[in-house]
Amino acid sequence: MTQDIAQRIAALADELEEHLYRYHVLDAPTISDQEFDRLLAELQALEEAHPSLVRPDSPTQRVGGTPTSDFPTVRHARPMLSLDNSYSRQDVEAFDRRVRQSLPDEAVEYVFELKIDGVALSLIYQDSLLVRAITRGDGVQGDEITANARTIPTIPLRLRQSGVNCEIRGEVYMEISDFAQLNAQRAADDGPLFANPRNSTAGSLKLQNPNLVAKRNLRFFAYWIHAEGGGQTRHSECLETLRAWGLMVPEHQRCASLADVFALYDHYAAARAELPYEIDGVVIKVDSLSQQERLGYTAKSPRSAMAYKFPAYQARTRLLDIHLQVGRTGAVTPVAVLDPVPLAGSTIARASLHNADEIHRKDIRIGDTVLIEKGGDVIPKVVGVDRSERPDDSAEYAFPNQCPSCKGSLSRDAEEAVARCDNSTCPAQLRRRLEHFAARNAMDIEGLGPAVVEQLAAEGLVKDLSDLYELNVESLGALERMGEKSAQNLLDGLDRSKEQPFDRVLFALGIRHVGTTVARTLAREFGSLDDLCKASVEELEATHEIGPTIARSLYASLPDLPALDRVLYKLKNKAKLQFEMEAEEAAPASHFSGKTVVITGTLSGYSRDEAAALIERLGGKTTSSVSKNTDLLIAGEKAGSKLARAQALGVAVLDEAAFIAQLQEAGVA
Ligand SMILES: [Zn+2]
Repeated sequence: MTQDIAQRIAALADELEEHLYRYHVLDAPTISDQEFDRLLAELQALEEAHPSLVRPDSPTQRVGGTPTSDFPTVRHARPMLSLDNSYSRQDVEAFDRRVRQSLPDEAVEYVFELKIDGVALSLIYQDSLLVRAITRGDGVQGDEITANARTIPTIPLRLRQSGVNCEIRGEVYMEISDFAQLNAQRAADDGPLFANPRNSTAGSLKLQNPNLVAKRNLRFFAYWIHAEGGGQTRHSECLETLRAWGLMVPEHQRCASLADVFALYDHYAAARAELPYEIDGVVIKVDSLSQQERLGYTAKSPRSAMAYKFPAYQARTRLLDIHLQVGRTGAVTPVAVLDPVPLAGSTIARASLHNADEIHRKDIRIGDTVLIEKGGDVIPKVVGVDRSERPDDSAEYAFPNQCPSCKGSLSRDAEEAVARCDNSTCPAQLRRRLEHFAARNAMDIEGLGPAVVEQLAAEGLVKDLSDLYELNVESLGALERMGEKSAQNLLDGLDRSKEQPFDRVLFALGIRHVGTTVARTLAREFGSLDDLCKASVEELEATHEIGPTIARSLYASLPDLPALDRVLYKLKNKAKLQFEMEAEEAAPASHFSGKTVVITGTLSGYSRDEAAALIERLGGKTTSSVSKNTDLLIAGEKAGSKLARAQALGVAVLDEAAFIAQLQEAGVA
């Protein structure tokens, strides 16, 4: 029996790892996501029932490592050297001459490889199992981040070749689209943005909770190997070996001459904008390992390889003006208004100037000819000034100490170097707040886009969020281009928004640091706005996923007493928005309170959704798969594998009749 189970666990682990490989490395999945999830759930259930049979290379072991407070420092077996690098073709030619002079009468071939702009990582495999992952650090020693590395699906937990002891090096990176998505999420949460994908990769690898790392969609390209009894004689063979062992390797090509190298360089310099990830240049390596060895090392780097970097995308143009943008929480950010200029496939008319300190340090003046640059950053930035082109009458830019919108005075946050308008009735902030409130992931109010917001605010119809709910057909009729039909649409949209649950309302209020995720967490944890506002810093900090910095800042941003805040009072009592969690409100102590419930099979009296809604109303939580965290399984007709799993895990099971009896007891059936 146990042996059967052990075999099934091994077979499932192998099969799932094979599917991960096909999906992430080969980009050629052969099963659906649902099928994958089903197999994974089966494996999880078996492993939970038989913890002693869990294999270290099981896909379930990729996540769930426990958070660490710091990473141990580990010495590298062989130092991780950096490569000489240059932007100049002459330097590459000089490198080639040195190589050929050191290897007289030998043919030299190079491997041309894309240089991914990521974070270097060393992986140690023993008997083909991943045992350790160490960051480059200072090259001699780095941080051991094995639990985080295990979450990266393109890092095999077990090599596809048995009995291998080796060190593999490569680059962890984030694709540009994942980076953009991550930053969009952070922007919505009013959090600090990552400058570029490398930055966000480094930040992700430093996270102390592997479960969070797993959500960052990190990837890995391998480009170096040191294996016991390796047998490879060329770098290009090493790359093939790495590929055969289940790793992704960077795009590469063998080149017999420097002319080939330059042709490829030119090709990628032009085509790099189309790659899904950032490359900052290419690497040129001598292909023969024996030649590499004889060429040896300088103190810092191997003599057999160099990085030939791409220039950043840059353009020169005139700085026409500096606009100040006021965000919904009052942060005032300077934006460069430029004479439009083409750059990396798009026309750039605006660029980031970061903050007042930055403008001052670079002495950027209106009328200057500026250098703008676009790296992995979302927005291009001004990186320098051509002083020789400065007009004679230019003056140093004085960062205003007044809000451009309300003329109120700006305060400076010492920590953030951000200027902030603290006027809660600031018109610009009001517009941003209204836009945020109406957004799809907030109150989702149809017909309340930026143009309508602008009209409502400009006409003085809406001075705060609560005024929205006092709009009517007559008052809207006064607006230009607002027909009766669109007016009615907007009013219907506002009406519907009153049904939005408390966590949405909490997010929509636009409190600093309260993004969608934090809003859900806080709503669930505290149940109502009143209780949230009464919470102490310590209570906020004790909330799952909220760190000390955010807790302090959130504490300062929350209104003291919602009842004394006119806008909140009206939103709650006149507009009747949801200021409490519904489940909390209607949840009498029931059989389902605080329980995690799974529904399976067919119920004759309820659809699954209806049953789930009832359970949630009664204070329970429903999930779709059975795990050791499941408290209760509702099993209808034809309940299949979930029922079996629940029984294997000793989870309590209710049939439909017992379920209905409990609903009746709670007074909802
Ligand atoms: Zn203002």
